[in-house]
Amino acid sequence: MDRVSATLDDLPIRDDLRGLRPYGAPQAALPIALNVNENTHPVPRHVADDILDAIARALRDINRYPDREFTALREGFAEYLGHGLSPEQIWAANGSNEVLQQLLQAFAGPGRTAMGFAPTYSMYPLLTRGTGARWIEGVREDDFTLSAGSAAAQVGDAAPDVVLLCSPNNPTGTPLSLDAIAAVYEATDGLVVVDEAYQEFAPRDARSALTLLPGRPRLAVSRTMSKAFAFAGARVGYLVADPALVDALRLVRLPYHLSALTQAAATAALHHADTMLAMVGEIVAQRDRISATLPALGYEPYESWSNFVLFGGVDEPAAVWRSLYESGVLIRDIGLPGHLRVTAGTEEETTAFLDALASVGSAS
Ligand code: PMP
Repeated sequence: MDRVSATLDDLPIRDDLRGLRPYGAPQAALPIALNVNENTHPVPRHVADDILDAIARALRDINRYPDREFTALREGFAEYLGHGLSPEQIWAANGSNEVLQQLLQAFAGPGRTAMGFAPTYSMYPLLTRGTGARWIEGVREDDFTLSAGSAAAQVGDAAPDVVLLCSPNNPTGTPLSLDAIAAVYEATDGLVVVDEAYQEFAPRDARSALTLLPGRPRLAVSRTMSKAFAFAGARVGYLVADPALVDALRLVRLPYHLSALTQAAATAALHHADTMLAMVGEIVAQRDRISATLPALGYEPYESWSNFVLFGGVDEPAAVWRSLYESGVLIRDIGLPGHLRVTAGTEEETTAFLDALASVGSAS
């Protein structure tokens, strides 16, 4: 009998995509899901009602293409971020993944290279290769920190076309100093992207890479509404850069890439930034509670400026992950030997995780 479906090998797919694996964090329906660094707090009711009203208004014109320049949304981001930014410096897309993809489409591509410092966000190599570019993996210290000197030297040696700096870094939570970012910028003629997906969880007095933008036209800072704004399902990421750099993205974006419904929802949510961000303090408190509790259970947490904690000292990560899974708690085995990563949830979810982990420890 003829097979009803072919395998990848049967298809005339690009040679450079053969053998690659797609992004695949498990999406299991467990009661406690702390595996993909979502904000586990739901959007407050009155904010959700306001967003629904905005979507309802947008629906009246849904027969027309949306504002290709998403003007109201860019104004909203400029106001939210402050730093004297203007809407011409802002760009947005369907998640910061799409923002990063557009940056790589415009500045990487066939015959070019992009570089990051491993372990870092697992989508960087995939997005890079998706544009036909080569991924270069730089290294960090054993504790996952990255100094200005080391980062600049590695970038100087590799001479990549794009550098992706994740700050705070996923999956480690590690902050990156502004000195290191400035040193990398000096060490390259290429594009430097600082991915600040988790910036809102950093200490309040920590300066953002946004402060480095003046006078650095090859620097871009990307952000997302997925984490601090509890908006992962809406798919809204954004970027701040020189208007000329923003212009470059218009060459590669799909026309009307941000739907009218997305624009309406995100703009309405930004009007409630204070309420949406009120949960951040609570999440940071739970993150710090995880970090403070893990050593007593025999694990070694790393400093985190994000909404998750990476911890070492796990003899058998796959077995611990499975045991937590069976207790209804989903965390992330990122494939780093001896380590696991957990997202800080609500107080109840965090308690469930810590209790489940404590019983794994006593069972072994
Ligand atoms: N950057 C980093 C460092 C991330 O961890 C994530 C999501 N896990 C993203 C970007 C993408 O987020 P989104 O596409 O939801 O904005």
